[in-house]
Amino acid sequence: MTADSAPPAPYAANEAASRGRVHAEPAPVLRGEYQRDRDRIIHSTAFRRLVYKTQVFVNHEGDLYRTRLTHSIEVAQIARTIARALRLNETLAEAICLAHDLGHTPFGHAGQDALNDCMKPYGGFEHNLQSLRVVDELEERYAAFPGLNLTFETREGILKHCSLNNARQLGELGERFIKRRQPTLEAQIANLADEIAYNNHDLDDGLRAGLIVLEGLREVPLFRRQHDAVVGLYPDLQGRRMIHEVVRRMINYVVTDLVETTQAALRAAAPGNVEDVRARSEVLVQFSEAVAAEHLELKHYLRDHVYRHYRVLRMTNKANQVIRSMFDTFFARPELLPDEHYQATQQLEARSGEVGRARAVADYIAGMTDRYAIVEHERLFDPSKRS
Ligand code: MG
Repeated sequence: MTADSAPPAPYAANEAASRGRVHAEPAPVLRGEYQRDRDRIIHSTAFRRLVYKTQVFVNHEGDLYRTRLTHSIEVAQIARTIARALRLNETLAEAICLAHDLGHTPFGHAGQDALNDCMKPYGGFEHNLQSLRVVDELEERYAAFPGLNLTFETREGILKHCSLNNARQLGELGERFIKRRQPTLEAQIANLADEIAYNNHDLDDGLRAGLIVLEGLREVPLFRRQHDAVVGLYPDLQGRRMIHEVVRRMINYVVTDLVETTQAALRAAAPGNVEDVRARSEVLVQFSEAVAAEHLELKHYLRDHVYRHYRVLRMTNKANQVIRSMFDTFFARPELLPDEHYQATQQLEARSGEVGRARAVADYIAGMTDRYAIVEHERLFDPSKRS
C-alpha cells in the first residue's frame, strides 16, 4: 500500500479531536478544518508580504535567491512528504509550515535580532510569538473576529519556541513549555522541515552568490558524500546541474533518514493518539544520531562561511541601523507613525503603558517588507525624500 492510500495513523492529528478555534464558527462545508486554516493563511496579507522579506539575501540583491515566501513553500513541501510517508495529517503540517514565518521581520535574522534588542526593556521580540500574534490578532480579514481564528493545532505548531515568561501569558497554548510537553507530530515535522529547507537552500544560494565554493563545501560530510556519488555517476557534470543534483540528493538523504528514524521511534513508543504524543517529554520526530550530527555540521559551516561572510554582515549591520533608528524615533514620537499605527500605539499604550506603545511600534516594523523598511527609513530621515 502506498502512503497515498494508507489510512491515517492513530496518532495523527485529526479534526474530530481538535481543540477547536477561539471563536466558535460553523463547520466548513466543502473543506476540512485544517484545510480552512491553510486557505486562510494563503489569503492573508502577511503571507503575501513574505515575498519581499529576506531569507539570507535582501530582495534587491538578485531575483533568484530564496525569499521568506519561497522558503515557506519549500518547508511545506518537505513537511508534506514526511507527513504523508508517516501517515500523519499532511494538511495540518502544510498549514503550520506556510504560517511559521508570518511574524518575521524585514532583513531576516538580522532584523529579528535588532528588533529584539530594541524591545528588551518591553518584553522582547520573538518571531515565533509574532507569527502567532499575526494570525491571532493583527490580520484584519473577518467581520466576526480579529486575526484568522485558526485551530488550536495550527497555532500550537506555529509557536515553535517560547520563553517561559511569555508561555505563562498564553494559557492552554503556553502550557507545553511550562510542563515540558510536546506538540503534535505534524508540528514536530514542520520544525525539522524548516531546518532541512534552510540548510539546503542557503547552501544553494550561498554558492549562487559566490560566498562559498564547491571545493570548500567538500569539508562537510553531508555534502561530500553526495558529491562523490554524483561525480561517480556523472563524471562530466558541471555547474548548476552538478550543484542541484547534489542538493536534491542531500535533501532526499536526510528526509529518508528522518522518516525511518521516526518510524522506529513511533513503533517503540506506540502512542495511541495525539494526546499520548503531547504528553511525552521528548520529541518523536527525529533524525538518527549520525545524521543529526552531520546536519549540525552543515549548519555550522553555513554559519561560518555564509551568515558571517562580510557581505552578509554588512547587510546585517545596515539592517540593524535601519530598524534601531526607526524604532527609537517612532517610540519617542508615535505621532510620526501613519494614522492607523499611531492609533494602535494609543490603544496599546492605554492598556499597558510604555510596554504597549513599544509593542505597537514593533508590530509596525515587524510587518514591513525589506523594501518598505528601506523606503520608510528614507521618508523618516532623508530630507530630500517625500515624507
Ligand atoms: Mg523558517
